[in-house]
Amino acid sequence: MLKNILKSSDCAACKICCVFDKYDIWETPVLDDELKNRISERFPQLSFVKKGEGWLFRMEESEDELFYCPALDKNSGCILGEDKPFDCKIWPYRIMELGGRRVISIASICPTMFKKPLSELCAELEKNNLADKIFEFADSHPDIVKQYEYGYPVLKVEKA
Ligand code: SF4
Repeated sequence: MLKNILKSSDCAACKICCVFDKYDIWETPVLDDELKNRISERFPQLSFVKKGEGWLFRMEESEDELFYCPALDKNSGCILGEDKPFDCKIWPYRIMELGGRRVISIASICPTMFKKPLSELCAELEKNNLADKIFEFADSHPDIVKQYEYGYPVLKVEKA
């Protein structure tokens, strides 16, 4: 979804968004029943844990104290293709709840996007109604809305 602004070669060389530590494990993607079932059929080696109405990938802590998404192939990247969760399709944009309003923020940990000017990051949200699509998806998948985390710059606040 972010092909205009984020080159797949940059993502392939990085993969930071597919590895979590104990401080950002809350960032792991949320799947609905339909997607979880489809992925289970395609990749029976993957397992899941329930979270609210959705599902998370089951991840084990590695010796380096990190949690590697089990859908990550260290050589070729994410194995899911079109079944990549919505959270991952829009990352590093995040939808969060702040003071009773939904906002779209950006994860500063993304080295490529965080170097871009604010004007470009905000313009991308307006192109092809990306922000509206994120809010609409969250209407039917409220589990993807994270609680606001300090340090995530807010780029757009949902209209009241
Ligand atoms: S589902 Fe794919 S893109 Fe998302 S965190 Fe896992 S490996 Fe990365």
